[in-house]
Amino acid sequence: MKPDLLLVGNATPRMLEAMTGAFTLHRLKEIGDLEAFLTEKGEAIVAVATNGHDGLKPEIMARLPNLKIISCFGVGYDAIDANAAAARGVMVTHTPDVLNADVANTAIMLMLAVSRRVVVDDAYVRAGRWPKEGAAPLRQSIEGKRVGILGLGRIGETIARKLAAFDCEIVYHTRNRKPDTPYRYYGNLVDMAKDVDFLVVITPGGAATRHLVNRAVIDALGPEGTLVNVGRGSVVDEAELVAALKDGRLGAAGLDVFEDEPRVPEALFAMENVVLLPHVGSATVETRRAMGDLTVENLLRFFADGKAVTPVPECKGLQA
Ligand code: NDP
Repeated sequence: MKPDLLLVGNATPRMLEAMTGAFTLHRLKEIGDLEAFLTEKGEAIVAVATNGHDGLKPEIMARLPNLKIISCFGVGYDAIDANAAAARGVMVTHTPDVLNADVANTAIMLMLAVSRRVVVDDAYVRAGRWPKEGAAPLRQSIEGKRVGILGLGRIGETIARKLAAFDCEIVYHTRNRKPDTPYRYYGNLVDMAKDVDFLVVITPGGAATRHLVNRAVIDALGPEGTLVNVGRGSVVDEAELVAALKDGRLGAAGLDVFEDEPRVPEALFAMENVVLLPHVGSATVETRRAMGDLTVENLLRFFADGKAVTPVPECKGLQA
């Protein structure tokens, strides 16, 4: 008898194939009457596969009394209550490291796209304006600029390392100073924002980081500063961000994530100093494949020998 797995959200064909080989798969999006399903099958479900956006709603988790593991496709798991899961003895896993390079590349791509106005200049060429109006205006370079990284974890470190190729000066803010990095530490985020050209947000989401980037931080970054957010939309006070861009109190922004995805404030659409992406930090064929493989591997290993490959910190104590 294969164990019963509930799939929340989508999965790639490769993941589906691997999961159906080892589990009896129930796809949430194909379940018409959720109440009837939970009544009939809730006790049988021992595993959930989900992603960082859909997570697992507490009211569904409460109806799965024999749940043993939640495997998250994504490194950010703020949409899953990992503390509540750990308290129930439910393992939660995620996909760290395999996406570091592509998310870091996305952050640097946004820095370049914003400072060189690549979207604006591309539109200029496509509209046939170049032959009529001549050369496009000069833009700002990222070369040698000072970059403040908010969240110097796995991805933040990768961004810092890659920015060495642009001779950028790296500084950072985290709650805990990191003893082994060459970069200058700021214990105060406003102080760091005052001193940098770019502020790159790459912390987890959730209550602890909500609106860390508030009006004071945005104003400290100032009219010459650029905000890049590849972490979570919730970390930035989006209303304040939009207001600061409208007033010219903030220079520019490159955003991959938003507070209420997939809804993006329409006020941003007309701004030439803003580049907007639909949460695609890790969205390459190569990285998504690695993330999918790790999501499935966590499930398979857990049921084979009780040891998940990449448990979230809250659940490390549950390892057999
Ligand atoms: P890590 O856990 O390795 O790093 C997180 C960093 O954030 C640590 O340096 C941590 O330091 C810091 N941090 C956490 N809380 C705070 C706080 N309250 N104030 C200041 N700093 C804080 O995570 P990863 O680098 O692997 O991933 C980071 C996040 O990036 C994910 O959780 C996810 O939300 C986001 N992400 C976005 C993607 C996208 O598609 N745009 C793709 C992948 C990830 P300390 O604990 O010392 O404070």
